[in-house]
Amino acid sequence: MKAAPACPRCDSTKTRKVADSPIKGKWELYACDYCHYVWRSTEDLTGIDKRVEYLRQKAVHVWE
Ligand SMILES: [Zn+2]
Repeated sequence: MKAAPACPRCDSTKTRKVADSPIKGKWELYACDYCHYVWRSTEDLTGIDKRVEYLRQKAVHVWE
């Protein structure tokens, strides 16, 4: 199984796949455990506001 990509918003690698498309292989849905961002593999993420430092400081860490 392919590893989930790093979070496009906070660069965390604490990400996981949460769902597959109903039509197999169309897209995957990923979630970041760090900043709770959720995205599809087919989304255009180039314009995303990357606030890495801000998010790492402000993220609510539910597992702590
Ligand atoms: Zn994130």
